[in-house]
Amino acid sequence: QKGALLEHQRYALAERDVKNSLMPDNLPKLIADVIDANELRVVYQPKVDIRSNRVVSVEALVRWPSDHPQFVPVNVLIDTVERCGLVEALTLQVLSAVLRETSGWKMAGLDVTVWVNLSARLLSQPDLPRTLAHKMEVWFAEPGSIGLEITESALIRDLDKTVEVLSELKRLGFPLAIDDFGTGYSSFAYLRRFPIDELKIDRVFVDNMTESLQDKQIVQSIIDLAHNFGLPVVAEGVERLETLQALIAMECEQIQGYYFAKPMPAQELLIWCADFHRKAEASPG
Ligand code: C2E
Ligand code: MG
Ligand code: MG
Ligand code: MG
Repeated sequence: QKGALLEHQRYALAERDVKNSLMPDNLPKLIADVIDANELRVVYQPKVDIRSNRVVSVEALVRWPSDHPQFVPVNVLIDTVERCGLVEALTLQVLSAVLRETSGWKMAGLDVTVWVNLSARLLSQPDLPRTLAHKMEVWFAEPGSIGLEITESALIRDLDKTVEVLSELKRLGFPLAIDDFGTGYSSFAYLRRFPIDELKIDRVFVDNMTESLQDKQIVQSIIDLAHNFGLPVVAEGVERLETLQALIAMECEQIQGYYFAKPMPAQELLIWCADFHRKAEASPG
């Protein structure tokens, strides 16, 4: 029975199905129904600050409902919603889930910024800042408690308009990050014109940096570039101690990756962080 498979097995299965074009033709409808029914889930992955050895923020990542008869991997989900005009609906559902699920964290002793992924495509919508700000108000959420990771899957066409929307988001108090830096079309123009607070290095460069001198040089270049702009750097996809040590030596500020933790449900994350901080205090440095 399909439902009995572990999530990663289902993922592998679905990836194979995508390659074989066995995905249902009604994928947009399938996704629209799940969004309508408010069934998308969110998992959270810690970002650890290297200096303090504390979880300073977490990234919220959308997940397809595990009990759904069909399985849609995240990349296919995001691809499809972007193509079908569903990306705003998905984003708002993720933000609502995040605000609901993390509203008790501060009281429970976890004070972190929760970063939500924002498709760059949405930045062409002038009413986006108001829509997001309204959601925050509904949940009495402090400005600054939710960060926005701008993921770029399409070339930004109207740079002026995008800068305007980003500046308004920034003015409203949302911290901003450029995600997957180095993989997309991201250019110096972005760094110069976007009011961003941090830069995330994509895991394709991080993954292999202890084996490949070229990848290591790319990572070092991105870190230097960010620092020259006064921006802290987050490295994603850190799986091994060796990579962590290399990044520490390169003065990267924050680490996100399986080495510390995989993305997990809100309640689990809370427990994981308490445990992590207890251990960090027990053995400082
Ligand atoms: P991303 O924003 O770059 O997120 C990081 C991805 O790397 C996540 O994949 C995370 O699970 C994975 N990851 C983190 N550490 C490791 C590691 O050590 N090893 C490996 N192998 N992977 C690691 P995920 O959750 O599959 O998400 C894929 C992408 O989908 C995200 O990349 C993001 O671009 C997009 N995405 C996810 N959730 C949302 C969302 O709510 N809205 C939008 N617009 N996009 C989303
Ligand atoms: Mg991200
Ligand atoms: Mg990323
Ligand atoms: Mg990435």
